[in-house]
Amino acid sequence: MAVKTVSILGATGSVGQSTIKVLQAQNVDYQVQALTANNNWELLAEQAITLKAKRAVIANEAHFGNLKQALSGTGIEAAAGEAALIEAAAMPADWVMAAIVGMAGLKPLMAAIEQGQGGTVAIANKEPLVAAGALVLNAAKKAGTTILPVDSEHNAIFQVFEPHNKKNVERIILTASGGPFRNHSLGDMADVTPEQALAHPNWSMGDKISIDSATMMNKALEVIEAQFLFGVDTEQIEVLVHPQSIIHSMVEYSDGSVLAQMGAADMCTPITNALGYPARLKTPGQKLDFKQMKHLDFEVLDEERFPTVRLAYDCLKQEKDKRQAACIAFNAANEVAVDAFLNHKIAFLDIYKIILYIVNHRPDERVGSLEDILTYDKSIRMMTESYIVSENSKKAKASI
Ligand code: NAD
Ligand code: MG
Repeated sequence: MAVKTVSILGATGSVGQSTIKVLQAQNVDYQVQALTANNNWELLAEQAITLKAKRAVIANEAHFGNLKQALSGTGIEAAAGEAALIEAAAMPADWVMAAIVGMAGLKPLMAAIEQGQGGTVAIANKEPLVAAGALVLNAAKKAGTTILPVDSEHNAIFQVFEPHNKKNVERIILTASGGPFRNHSLGDMADVTPEQALAHPNWSMGDKISIDSATMMNKALEVIEAQFLFGVDTEQIEVLVHPQSIIHSMVEYSDGSVLAQMGAADMCTPITNALGYPARLKTPGQKLDFKQMKHLDFEVLDEERFPTVRLAYDCLKQEKDKRQAACIAFNAANEVAVDAFLNHKIAFLDIYKIILYIVNHRPDERVGSLEDILTYDKSIRMMTESYIVSENSKKAKASI
């Protein structure tokens, strides 16, 4: 079914803006239902006017007055706050892009899935898949909503994964650029600044995912994301460093064939794929030029310098009733630690130490429902924040 109505959750972010670029490059007059953002009301209003959206929602209520004023006389509805965000996600749309960052995207994602009957929810927002993968996929099945992965690696796997040959899939090879510190020693990484960590060599992305790429937490989260999306055994998922970011991931079959998806390091390709699927549309983004390509290099991930990926496997290998709590804690501790690093409260290498401590000391709880997940996620965030405060005060005392 051709897509006619669309919504973008997280429209002002890096993926959100690329999504708008992709929509505008098509010869289709999409009806934009809802556009949402957290703080950037100016850009949101501009996008809503350009795309003639029905509704624009700002999550942070402090900006409601500004948004309302910017949209006055346009006929576009303005709304603010969490309830309004969820309501906007639930507006009927054939295709919804989930591009909020972090667990803040879980409730809107669930609302989009539940309304999506017969339609599609394209998911870039990986954190809800990591913390609540089973819940998200079951909701989609129940509602008859198609989930399409937009994370470039998972979109690549999706393109070369033959569902009818699932039992003959031997390995999923998730490629990783290695991030800005691929060649740094642990010593070099000890005093890197947020600004250095934000400078990704291949991809231009939001702050949180850029820091995740520097710690390799992004790949760690993607291992868990792949496990949920493709339902293979944890042992079948491998991570391979590929500095050029040309092969976005691969699937190896029992006959020895390895299918890879290639493309420029540009999110327009996976977004265009998800918008057109099963047809192929035109990307407004970059294309590969094989004549300019000298090498495709591959390296084994150095787990000593980048131990986050190993920790993701440890979480997935926990007994079934402990696994989900481990994944929630893994993700939530990281979100809090990344925020602390970006605010100069902790050092770069503390991010992993904090996640490790929280995963190992988390309370053991069975979490199943959406409420359980959100409550547990919140308690882990509080635990992580107090751990950071107590470690920092120990350090301050030691330095007196
Ligand atoms: P970003 O920070 O650039 O944008 C995030 C968007 O979410 C913004 O529109 C922001 O307003 C909104 N948002 C943030 N906090 C919110 C909150 N509390 N409530 C409501 N809205 C909120 O992030 P991004 O780089 O576009 O990444 C978005 C998601 O896609 C992340 O989960 C990321 O891991 C994933 N992803 C991004 C890329 C990429 O190239 N940027 C690639 C693959 C996957
Ligand atoms: Mg990715």
